[in-house]
Amino acid sequence: MASEFDLIARHFTRPAAPGQLGVGDDCALFDVPPGHQVAVSTDLLVEGRHFFPNVDPRALGHKALAVNLSDLAAMGARPVGCLLGLALPRADDAWLAAFARGFHDLADEANCPLIGGDTTRSPASLTLSVTVFGAVRPREALRRDAACVDDEIWVSGELGAADVAYRILDGQLPADPLRLSAVRRALEWPTPRLALGRALAGLAHAAIDISDGLLQDLGHILDLSRVGAELRYSALPVAAGLDGLDDATRRRAVLGGGDVYELCFTAAPADHAHVVQAAAKAGVRVSCVGRITDRSGVIVLDDTGRPLPDLPQGFDHFA
Ligand code: ADP
Ligand code: MG
Repeated sequence: MASEFDLIARHFTRPAAPGQLGVGDDCALFDVPPGHQVAVSTDLLVEGRHFFPNVDPRALGHKALAVNLSDLAAMGARPVGCLLGLALPRADDAWLAAFARGFHDLADEANCPLIGGDTTRSPASLTLSVTVFGAVRPREALRRDAACVDDEIWVSGELGAADVAYRILDGQLPADPLRLSAVRRALEWPTPRLALGRALAGLAHAAIDISDGLLQDLGHILDLSRVGAELRYSALPVAAGLDGLDDATRRRAVLGGGDVYELCFTAAPADHAHVVQAAAKAGVRVSCVGRITDRSGVIVLDDTGRPLPDLPQGFDHFA
């Protein structure tokens, strides 16, 4: 096995951005623009839990960073830098090179350089930990506790594809190669909605990224904002890869499916046109899917205005 230091030098050392001190010292150093707060988030990814052992390492490198950048996007923050913790059962150079490429490609695209981390050999499953730092003006941060009664509820992109891809790969849905090829990218190469999050900062009220399912994640906004929600099922943006699936499978994927990394956010009805403009500027589709109410809980209305029964639950690691 290459030494820990060779491995870090080969795969994870990149030139630091101006004003930063990157990999190689005891700590990394970075500036935040005056008037901004640091937004920090961290996520763990465990083999067999968050990704399949045979996943393409380049896709894994991308996704490990993407899910963290998605948290910055949901806060309206701009990326500043990131840290990578690696617990490796083995050090396979080709695997690490592909992983690092997926990671660095997205880091470059998002302007979020890798400025440090920790690397160790592990007797257990491959485990990755990514921490991202961002900058946001305190009054512009999109917090989960900021939804107001009568706000419109919006969702970016499309829903359901990642859930269907996961369930095909996991053997819970029939192996259908055509369908899998239509939905797999959503699971393995999610796009963090950074430009949209920035465009919504100071405009939208509350926001969250959909990692555990629309109903569950919207539920976090509702709990912290002490409000409720009414969604219109037919207004939800369904990924084309779900065409032809039975209603129950579609409903479960759209309302409860995780790993989406789209933004769910609320904004004042008076700002409807501004939200549409912000999304156009960010180059992202957004759909207005419902509104915030003063009754607690979520109801989802069908085309006739009746609430759907038996809403699916989102993903809970300890359920
Ligand atoms: P320390 O003993 O001070 O924790 P290390 O020997 O663990 O330092 O790491 C040496 C340098 O390499 C540090 O700057 C650390 O941030 C960086 N580093 C270690 N592992 C990684 C990694 N997986 N990705 C990026 N940087 C890393
Ligand atoms: Mg260390």
